[in-house]
Amino acid sequence: MADLLSIEEALRLVLERARPLPAEGVPLAEAAGRVLAEPAVASVDLPPFDSSAMDGFAVRAADTPGELPVGFRIAAGQPSPRPLEAGEAMGIATGAAVPPGADAVIPVEYVVDDDNKVAIEQAVQPGASVRPRGGDARRGDRVVAAGGRLGPAQLGALAAAGVAEVSCARRPRAAVLTTGSELRLPGEQLEPGQIYEANGVILAAQLVSAGAEVERLPAVADEPGAHRDALERGLAGDVLVSSGGVSVGPHDLVRSVGAELGIEQVFWRVAVKPGKPLWFGVRGETLVFGVPGNPVSTLVSFELFVRPAVLALQGATDPGPRFALGTLAAGVRRNAARDELLRARSSVEDGELVLRPVTGQDSHMIVRAAEADALVLVPRGDGEISPGDRVRYLRLG
Ligand code: AMP
Ligand code: MG
Repeated sequence: MADLLSIEEALRLVLERARPLPAEGVPLAEAAGRVLAEPAVASVDLPPFDSSAMDGFAVRAADTPGELPVGFRIAAGQPSPRPLEAGEAMGIATGAAVPPGADAVIPVEYVVDDDNKVAIEQAVQPGASVRPRGGDARRGDRVVAAGGRLGPAQLGALAAAGVAEVSCARRPRAAVLTTGSELRLPGEQLEPGQIYEANGVILAAQLVSAGAEVERLPAVADEPGAHRDALERGLAGDVLVSSGGVSVGPHDLVRSVGAELGIEQVFWRVAVKPGKPLWFGVRGETLVFGVPGNPVSTLVSFELFVRPAVLALQGATDPGPRFALGTLAAGVRRNAARDELLRARSSVEDGELVLRPVTGQDSHMIVRAAEADALVLVPRGDGEISPGDRVRYLRLG
């Protein structure tokens, strides 16, 4: 067992081979979840003009306190036709352009607005309630760095900065293949010895959430010819993920048929529980992951190795897996030989993120795993981790 690869070593071998795919132009409206191939820069100053932060009155700070005639009322999108003169105020809406000559805005709540005269009792500071032009970003400033994934805030920033199209690595094309003569689809009748196929939907959902375009290949029986045809088809894409058939049983055919098809093994077996028999190889530019068939092994292997690879293919600077720190609620015994990923439910208690391992940690127990929203990393070693100890965990989508 001592010769098994660690998670870190295996991940490094995967990421070394996951190089960014060629870039393409993507309209901003279709760019959610995509990763930038080049930095995106602001096409305007932001805000593009000095703008009012409040509904109120634009004034010269030097004219306050005082009673000022209201010379004009400025709406958003409709700037004043003339500068503000000394000794006058202009009504102004939030987001409207502060007229030349004015250097402050006093909110409507602090004045008496009567018959086109405004009484201002306090002195207003220069710059008060004015959002200066370029205060958020200057034209030409970087808005989102290359390698950044576009979430809602990044998309909003790009739109506000006038960016209509971004350059992103194309989406990885991924194929999903499930293997096993015992597998039937939900809705079909189970005969003795058969089970319902679960890994296909798990992997397809995970791949889509990682930004891939997914093709699901029909499940194959444990028969070399069927494996050969299906694997060959899956090798046409950027990523092929097969499930099952990577252990040492006589019906585990993925590795041997994969080798016949020219898939070069990079590693087989990792010191992780669940997911030890994970197989990873390449053919040409295609990355091939053979994840073990137990559904929880599939789920965990994907989060540890496949998701980072899919993100790296899109050029993500931080492809993960991104562990965070939490507090373990119950004591757990460490596995001597393998790092373990426990399925756990998280909650926030007194501001602390607390992780409670679910009951039923066997790798076939996908129903128990469905109660979990986190994977707790229990590093291999002797002894126990005690309740209250800090642990690293991965969030499950
Ligand atoms: P294997 O990795 O092929 O040895 O399979 C390990 C276990 O996972 C066996 O109990 C299989 O029946 C089960 N299994 C394999 N593939 C799937 C699948 N797609 N959905 C649900 N269970 C599976
Ligand atoms: Mg099998």
